[in-house]
Amino acid sequence: DLAMYEAKGAGRGRVVVFDQSMHERIADKLALEADLRKAIGAGQLSVVFQPIFDLDPYRLSGFEALARWEHPERGPISPSVFIALAEESGRIEALTRWVIDHAVAQLAQWLHEMPSMSHLDMHVNISSHDLTRPGLVEHVQQVLTRHGLPAHHLTLEITETMLMNDLEVSLGYLQGLRDAGIRFSIDDFGTGYSSLAYLSTLPLDSLKIDRSFVMGMEALPQNVEIVRAVMNLGKSLGKTVIAEGIEQPQQLQILRSLGVPRGQGYLLSKPLKAEQVPALLAVPARSAA
Ligand code: C2E
Ligand code: MG
Ligand code: MG
Ligand code: MG
Repeated sequence: DLAMYEAKGAGRGRVVVFDQSMHERIADKLALEADLRKAIGAGQLSVVFQPIFDLDPYRLSGFEALARWEHPERGPISPSVFIALAEESGRIEALTRWVIDHAVAQLAQWLHEMPSMSHLDMHVNISSHDLTRPGLVEHVQQVLTRHGLPAHHLTLEITETMLMNDLEVSLGYLQGLRDAGIRFSIDDFGTGYSSLAYLSTLPLDSLKIDRSFVMGMEALPQNVEIVRAVMNLGKSLGKTVIAEGIEQPQQLQILRSLGVPRGQGYLLSKPLKAEQVPALLAVPARSAA
């Protein structure tokens, strides 16, 4: 019985009892992990696309692909839960490849249907496990070739924390992607511990300012100063800056006044299903933002 075991090294006869909730949590996690293994094949995964905009002048610049899992019994599972689960259980590589395939195919189709949209790019999130897996560069190149999409239309995002944890190993792989023409962005920038010395040598194109700094910008001068500092850093390193999590008109106004070139957030658009995107492409940039 899992609920009770004799603790090794805890002294003879000592018994440790799992509380019931811990037992349930472990069983629950194992069940979800097993379900995730089947989810891709069962068609339960999908991708939504959050538009990213140039802020001034305002126009659509691309999309971030975000994975969704609709569990047959439990309903939608949060990406923060199932991405972590996929990483722990060795399923992240398959998931990432599936998202890249899907997102590249989708952008290729939109560009084909709307040649005037040739400036759009697609951002896909990857984890550090993906980055250090041999064959990622080749796989991405194959996908791009199959769909006839030039490499510069694809940006891979990796969180600052993940990148910095594995920096030595990641660097070579990063360079390989860069050499293939694929773009690269640091996600959730400001929440990790980037060494400024490393940042200047990393082969990357953009910094995405974490939502926590954009949040409350209108009320918190220190957040404005952080964003200003990231902008200055980006400028001196020659990297584009993208703000995430723009929810309030005042936040957008401040970001523009600081010269932040690009952004995304619920104010501008929520993540969209693929079928909702052509309507967005057909209409010139909304004036609301
Ligand atoms: P992220 O890459 O930083 O993506 C941005 C997250 O912020 C998304 O959450 C998006 O829906 C949400 N968001 C966008 N605008 C706003 C806003 O104005 N306000 C608020 N409160 N939230 C906003 P989501 O889709 O739940 O994804 C969470 C995280 O899960 C992502 O953070 C990313 O790290 C990870 N993730 C999602 N899809 C994938 C994937 O396909 N592969 C990998 N490796 N990670 C993924
Ligand atoms: Mg991201
Ligand atoms: Mg982010
Ligand atoms: Mg974030």
